[in-house]
Amino acid sequence: MLKYRIIPVTPYQQNCTLLWCDETMKSAIVDPGGDLHRIRQAVTETGTELEKIILTHGHLDHVGGTEELAKELNLPIEGPHPDDMFWIEQLPQQAQMMQFPPVKAFEPNRFLYQGDSVSVGNVSLGVRHCPGHTPGHVILFSEEKNLALVGDVLFQGSIGRTDFPRGDFDTLVKSITEQLWPLGDDMQFIPGHGPMSTFGVERQTNPFVADKNFG
Ligand SMILES: [Zn+2]
Ligand SMILES: [Zn+2]
Repeated sequence: MLKYRIIPVTPYQQNCTLLWCDETMKSAIVDPGGDLHRIRQAVTETGTELEKIILTHGHLDHVGGTEELAKELNLPIEGPHPDDMFWIEQLPQQAQMMQFPPVKAFEPNRFLYQGDSVSVGNVSLGVRHCPGHTPGHVILFSEEKNLALVGDVLFQGSIGRTDFPRGDFDTLVKSITEQLWPLGDDMQFIPGHGPMSTFGVERQTNPFVADKNFG
């Protein structure tokens, strides 16, 4: 069975998430934006063994700790979709601009595409390509656990910014309604920032993507 712990990191309180399989106690860290001491502590506290890094998209607050952690623990990096490589290549400049500690660019070991799956121990997660906030954004979901990790695609009561290079509002709304909603109203999600919610609640109340907007 899949287990998780949310570890808010960076000044942006990004919801880095430790996922693990309670049969094998193997874990994966999703979006290690920084504050690696907090991530190491969560790994120790849960008694899990980190086997990989998974990335939803190339923004600094989501991937800033990736290169250092991957090197330190010799971990493979899975994701995001290759269309986010321009963000990853610009990480050193992003870090300087946002006044983060210096960050190096890196090359993922595996890009993720629509319909892929990623494993954590014996658990398998599905992948959907959800462009709009960034062109190469992917989300992860577990039907068994009824849980999705959606990065900056959707938040409780809001959606991701679309004013970045190659961001697009209509594309983001389409990703949400065509890739997230079909996963089911009961599905809980961990957004990139802020509290958890369910797709059903957002379909009723989210001012950007509620069903009534499209009636
Ligand atoms: Zn972002
Ligand atoms: Zn973010």
